[in-house]
Amino acid sequence: MTAAFAPNSVHARDIAFLVHHQTDIAGYRETGGTLMARGEGVYVYDEAGKKYLEAMAGLWCASLGFSERRLAEVAYRQMLELPYYHHFFAKGNIPSVDLAERLVQLAPVPMSKVLFSCSGSEANDAAIKLVWYYHNAIGKPQKKKIIGRVRGYHGNTVAAVSLSGQPQMHSDFDVPLPQFRHTDNPHYYRFHEDGETEEQFATRMANNLEQLILREGPDTVAAFFGEPVQGAGGAITPPATYWEKIQAVLRKYDILLIADEVICGFGRTGNVWGCQTYGIEPDMLSCAKALSASYQPISALLVNEKIYQAMLGESKKIGSFAHGFTYAAHPVACAVAVETLKIYEERDIFTHVRRVSPVMQEGLKATEDHPMVGNARGVGLIAGVELMADKRTRTPFPAEAKAGALVERKCLEAGLVVRAIGDRIAFTPPLIMTEENLQEMCALFRKGLDAAW
Ligand code: PLP
Repeated sequence: MTAAFAPNSVHARDIAFLVHHQTDIAGYRETGGTLMARGEGVYVYDEAGKKYLEAMAGLWCASLGFSERRLAEVAYRQMLELPYYHHFFAKGNIPSVDLAERLVQLAPVPMSKVLFSCSGSEANDAAIKLVWYYHNAIGKPQKKKIIGRVRGYHGNTVAAVSLSGQPQMHSDFDVPLPQFRHTDNPHYYRFHEDGETEEQFATRMANNLEQLILREGPDTVAAFFGEPVQGAGGAITPPATYWEKIQAVLRKYDILLIADEVICGFGRTGNVWGCQTYGIEPDMLSCAKALSASYQPISALLVNEKIYQAMLGESKKIGSFAHGFTYAAHPVACAVAVETLKIYEERDIFTHVRRVSPVMQEGLKATEDHPMVGNARGVGLIAGVELMADKRTRTPFPAEAKAGALVERKCLEAGLVVRAIGDRIAFTPPLIMTEENLQEMCALFRKGLDAAW
């Protein structure tokens, strides 16, 4: 059965012609979805004119909201100047040089070079290829296995989804590829044992990682990928001491560390990088989303000198670094990203995030008094609120209750866009939200919770 929308309405045509990603296709045919028509500041409006406060910044990405004219104007100017030029065969364009230089300056640890792609998935895919390329170059071709984490999310190309620890994205797609392994999800609230402190839990996570490496054979393990804060896994902030303990294990076995900063990069955790917030020292770093405030599709992979030297040597073999995409380093996307980084600096956006984030974190924490909420936790302007059937015993709602989806729907009806990841509600509002916006967000969330209860 398909929903009864007027023939030729945008909803009817949407159902007739489009497949929506990460969406229940059959359910969508019955109910249709919410089609946004325009944006203004931190609000979006659907095609019927209903207004929503966007607490997810779209897909954790529209960092400057939905009506930043400077980005539209710089894109227009660049389109008039040079609308396209590629990066292959010793050619290039000027905005990509400007952007690469700025990214190397901003890097959390010394980085040598920048490789552009069009999405977070492609940046991680490139990183995976470089992990293998690097180990072949340095004469360790047996080091091929790559470790991600349960519930980690790194994208949807064949390799990036293999790295992601999201079973529903593997099912029937014939992934993961055989080189990938997954270690624990560092979700302290859900998985800590009675009486276990965050530090003890982090030690257990690091020990489990070490056991996995030993079982696989350290000589076969090439790299570990991690998001500083797990995003699509449920906005899961790492427990205290987690990253220092994980990094100690990786160093012990000479395993590369790649930080996936696709969500955390550019202010989300209150610093430019999540790596700075958690003391992470990666060999490569991928970023996207807030890099261009998502006004243009672009991603970047930063590589350190060690990786770059291996690339240099390896490419000499056939006279080419044989990798790339038609739209990578697109001049319009690069110009928009350069302007985005200027705006962050001029408006001191990262300081702003640190200043206003307590309003969000404390506001969401306060919902722990609600009968449906077990735990709220976050950092900067990213947070997850865990729904629980019985918070005393940490008993989740039964899956068939679809509690998360219900809360998400009730919030939408109340005029608030949030994202349910199972029974965890994620919040990553535009970085420009004011204290008043964040107060409104928390009030609307409570309204959604009350309506769902
Ligand atoms: N890495 C992380 C941490 C992400 O959250 C995402 C997307 O949400 C990706 C990679 C994939 O990025 P994209 O959707 O641009 O391919």
